[in-house]
Amino acid sequence: MKYHNITKADMLNGEGLRVVLWVSGCSHKCPSCHNSLTWDENDGIDFTEETKKELYKELDQDWCDGITLSGGDPLFLKNRAAIKDLVVDIKKLYPNKTIWSYTGYTFEELKKQIHTDENLLEILENIDVLLDGRFVINLAREKAKYVGSSNQRIIDVKKSLENRKVILYVPNKEEEVEPVTS
Ligand code: SF4
Repeated sequence: MKYHNITKADMLNGEGLRVVLWVSGCSHKCPSCHNSLTWDENDGIDFTEETKKELYKELDQDWCDGITLSGGDPLFLKNRAAIKDLVVDIKKLYPNKTIWSYTGYTFEELKKQIHTDENLLEILENIDVLLDGRFVINLAREKAKYVGSSNQRIIDVKKSLENRKVILYVPNKEEEVEPVTS
């Protein structure tokens, strides 16, 4: 797998302060995609053990709430083996931090692929939140939090797998309001 960037203390791609890995490779090719530079799986930097160490250094920080996988598509077929190893390791090493992942696939499409792709099942069992679906320009929502168009959903993966239907995740940290004292 290759990647384009790692952003640190990111507040835009998931709840809290996060480290974000921007992988290479996407087969969806949504019109007006903001990240078309990441479509080519062969472009970018090799994802190595050193890259993992860079991510773990961020996850070691108390202020870091977790990791978000973006791109490109972390669930692009050729990325899945490396992503599976990564999320399994992170869940073991950092059980209190959350793993969010973007993908151009819908949850329903992924569920159909689970039976023929062991990596995919393990990925889904180890991530907390999935932001699913292709970007649709006609449904673009500039002010929507974390997603680009209204067809995309923020999904609680564990609950959705348990209940065999999509259960949405409601981000709450940012909505906590400090009581006003006078
Ligand atoms: S799935 Fe994401 S990265 Fe891929 S083409 Fe669509 S918007 Fe771009």
